[in-house]
Amino acid sequence: MDAGGSIFNAMLQEFDGAARLLGLDPGIWKILTHPKRQITVSCPIQMDNGEIEVFTGYRVQYNITLGPAKGGIRYHPGVTLDEVTALAAWMTWKCAVAHIPFGGGKGGVICDPTRLSRRELEALTRRYVAEIIDAIGPEKDVPAPDVNTNDQIMAWVMDTYSMHVGHTATAVVTGKPVEMGGSLGRREATGRGVMIVTREAAKHLGFDVKGARVAVQGFGNVGSVSADLLARAGAKIVAVTDWKGGVSNEKGLDIPKMLDYAKQHKTIDGFPGGDPIDNAKLFGLDVEVLVPAALENQITMENAPQIRAKIVSEGANGPTTPEAHRYLHEHGVFVIPDILANAGGVTTSYFEWVQDRHGYFWQEDEVNQRLERKMCEAFDAVLNTSLRYKTDLRTGAYIVAISRVATVTKMRGMYA
Ligand code: GLU
Repeated sequence: MDAGGSIFNAMLQEFDGAARLLGLDPGIWKILTHPKRQITVSCPIQMDNGEIEVFTGYRVQYNITLGPAKGGIRYHPGVTLDEVTALAAWMTWKCAVAHIPFGGGKGGVICDPTRLSRRELEALTRRYVAEIIDAIGPEKDVPAPDVNTNDQIMAWVMDTYSMHVGHTATAVVTGKPVEMGGSLGRREATGRGVMIVTREAAKHLGFDVKGARVAVQGFGNVGSVSADLLARAGAKIVAVTDWKGGVSNEKGLDIPKMLDYAKQHKTIDGFPGGDPIDNAKLFGLDVEVLVPAALENQITMENAPQIRAKIVSEGANGPTTPEAHRYLHEHGVFVIPDILANAGGVTTSYFEWVQDRHGYFWQEDEVNQRLERKMCEAFDAVLNTSLRYKTDLRTGAYIVAISRVATVTKMRGMYA
């Protein structure tokens, strides 16, 4: 791994490049490179076999200058405080790029959810929420789904918080089931945002996503919806990989059939509509668009030189190391950075929070139209900034984000 193995250091490298170009005030620079609050909790759970296991969980509120902390909760065996802190920082910049009134937060629990029963998963979720209960709330910190968490888990988060405060508090968490205060369009929102910015980037580069060849790494919530909506926009999805394996077909994969297959088998591995492919081959394919939609540190100096795509659209958070990003940029690859490309999820989370607080719910096409507008505005702001500063899109996105947070930090002034 690059950046000394630390994901937070990778975030800092990205930040520093932009802050230097921006001529950021040194005091503000210090503030924005430190997490506001990091919470570590132990969650003892009685397992189905009667034994007690203790799971470690984190919640980091990186910055809350623009509003309540906002960001998902991930369940993964590889979760670390360093990773959660970097992800919380990225949420800060993402919310600022999306121009929504939130700060950045993130949560994580070290666990392998595939080895937990439904009862154990519920118990772990409720205990984790109980342990961080004082730190969260509609005005304080609003969690959401992330890697390996879904609407059912958000329902348990909402219920646990509501039981503690003594009333139903829908706005404490987003990405909930639609029946209990979730927003229409939220589940698809991250993938929809990826589709929108990819379409805009192609337009900027002078080609149409219609007919473009696309390879997608990851077939979870982000990868699968990105693939589906890009295919609906006329792109040809020629390869998809996931945690277990992958499938390619140069004539284009049948994504609706693949979605059914994935629902049944929990993987796309073995899908009959193509030939097997692995990640190494996927990254080197002759495609117009590559969508990394899995985990961090997937595009490194090991595979960046093989990438032939014109556009890399970062559905995942932190999929490209700083060194690999520099290499891609220098070799003419148009990288749409994570804090822009995958901002559709948190943008629709903002819409969900607004609807919950009003107790008035919008039609799906209204949600999607508002998302379309927000994503296009964010894309234009980032593109124009990167052109003005003669830099890559990631640095442009950081410049937009840092300027917005820095302006408000200065306006609010220093307490004590
Ligand atoms: N986990 C998603 C992200 O990384 C969504 C966060 C949210 O909706 O708060 O952007």
